[in-house]
Amino acid sequence: MRDFIDLRSDTVTKPTQKMREAMMNAIVGDDCYGEDPTVNELEALAAEKMGKESAMLVPTGTMGNTSALMTHVKHGDAVILEPDCHIYYYERGNVSAIAGALPILVSGEGGCPDPDIVEDMLGRNGNRPKITLICLENTHNRACGRTIPVEKMKVIYDISRKFNVPIHLDGARIFNASIALNIDVKEIAKYADSVMFCLSKGLGAPIGSLLTGTAEFINEARKARKRLGGAMRQAGVIASAGIVALKEMTERLKEDHENAKLLADGLAKIDKVKDGLIRGETNMVMINTKIVGMKAVDLASELNKRNIKVSIYGPYTIRLVTHKDVNRDDILYAISAFDDIF
Ligand SMILES: *Cc1c(COP(=O)(O)O)cnc(C)c1O
Repeated sequence: MRDFIDLRSDTVTKPTQKMREAMMNAIVGDDCYGEDPTVNELEALAAEKMGKESAMLVPTGTMGNTSALMTHVKHGDAVILEPDCHIYYYERGNVSAIAGALPILVSGEGGCPDPDIVEDMLGRNGNRPKITLICLENTHNRACGRTIPVEKMKVIYDISRKFNVPIHLDGARIFNASIALNIDVKEIAKYADSVMFCLSKGLGAPIGSLLTGTAEFINEARKARKRLGGAMRQAGVIASAGIVALKEMTERLKEDHENAKLLADGLAKIDKVKDGLIRGETNMVMINTKIVGMKAVDLASELNKRNIKVSIYGPYTIRLVTHKDVNRDDILYAISAFDDIF
């Protein structure tokens, strides 16, 4: 029997040999004193890649987003969020429970809040809760890893300048967006005041995310991180793997995108599956199992019997994610498993 093929998420990726060696040999210090040279190197590299002044290492993307919210808003302020975005959907209510903000939900095409509604909301700021932040997510996780084109980000950015409201970008998978849109990551990051991205997803590092922004913003965000218990000591052990991830693992994401396309193209050839197929431009494929005539749990369990793990995203939705620890062969096997079920 072959090993399990884990298509639940790109978070299941294991550190590479090079990362493990970097971790073993990392030069470290106490990062709370700013004295961990490896953390300092990673933060400088991250800021440079995003075209921002400064960066802060956090253990998780959730802490990065929460630190950003705490820094951008005051209690009682309101934040524009897309209803399926990670900050609203998956982060345990931190936007309200910790940052003290009221979420104002604005939907739109492809996981991007509708710019006209955003403009209207900001224009009526007078007698409403004061909107002091707009959050975007690129790529958008629940929208099947879809990208927000930079032209659209610019439209929202221009609106935000008009009303003097900052933008926070949840760029957990911003490198996937950059590869799919075929532009430098800076060209995406420039339409946001702060950007969070993850090292621990497709880039393969075991732990870590970065929050980037102006030096002043990051100085404040460090206090928020401290409050959340996320100020670490010899964090160079983690940062060393992150440096390998940033230097060597971004370009290869295109293989993941190719494999997701291979998977979607293969599934599109199966009559019963093709109409339920949801495609993105990056490393995710979703299936609307209602159209396929099954419940998500039942399809997931049939796949599990054939040694394939997928995520259940709703009663009638499953998600499959490609990443560095699945190869072309695994994808071909996954297609054959679907063939077998249908
Ligand atoms: C994974 C993810 C996060 C949070 O990352 P964690 O490290 O799991 O806390 C934030 N936003 C998006 C879009 C994500 O996919």
